[in-house]
Amino acid sequence: MHLIDTHTHIYGPEFDLDREEAVKRALEAGVGMLLLPNVDASTIAPMLATHECFPDCTRMMMGLQPEEVKGDYKQVLANMEKELERDIYIGVGEIGLDFYWDTTFEKEQLDAFETQLGWAKQLGLPLSIHCRNAFGFMARILEKHQDGSLKGVMHCFTGTEEEAKVYLELGFHLGLGGVTTHKNCGVKDYLHNIPLNRIVLETDAPYLSPVPHRGKRNEPAFMVETAKKIAEIYEMLVQEIAEITTRNVKTLFKI
Ligand SMILES: [Zn+2]
Repeated sequence: MHLIDTHTHIYGPEFDLDREEAVKRALEAGVGMLLLPNVDASTIAPMLATHECFPDCTRMMMGLQPEEVKGDYKQVLANMEKELERDIYIGVGEIGLDFYWDTTFEKEQLDAFETQLGWAKQLGLPLSIHCRNAFGFMARILEKHQDGSLKGVMHCFTGTEEEAKVYLELGFHLGLGGVTTHKNCGVKDYLHNIPLNRIVLETDAPYLSPVPHRGKRNEPAFMVETAKKIAEIYEMLVQEIAEITTRNVKTLFKI
């Protein structure tokens, strides 16, 4: 079995004590490739260092996560745009909108998101998109910018069937993670209506562990539990789910 974790923060301090073991556990579990989305200016160095330690099984993305968009975001974006010129990044992420805790920087978040969509277009790179409490804004902005060239993953998708269909129509993939295994997640109820060629898997480690690890630190090896749940929903073998979702990721991220 070969799975790809399309969204994992294994470079974070939560893994400082056992990063190598965590990567080993991932490989042993069949999660053979880890895609690392950036968060803010401070996470670039640890992400690069992690990639240097595990060059064969990690790939990086560059972007500013919406919750980290603050007053200085223009300067941060200018540095990230320069960093992207190094041509070592397979995508723009994670970027997006998050109005869950705080809408202080709503205007700035919208501007930062559109700026980074522009990078993706210019460089022909796929996106890893974070969206929380912002579906209306998100759909409108993606619609406005979609000229056929934008593609990517709606990371940690937990929305309604109607929202899923809007993203699919806009040409995006849905990134399913540990939440899909949680009892209260509504995605399970309609997922069988979503074409599998638009699904990719992720952990968002260290967050959002799947059952039976819920409440513990998440790690890429746990993604197998999400794959099992999805296999159950589609009434397929977990190996088939692995094959299809891995093919989707390879096509989307050109890896
Ligand atoms: Zn993330």
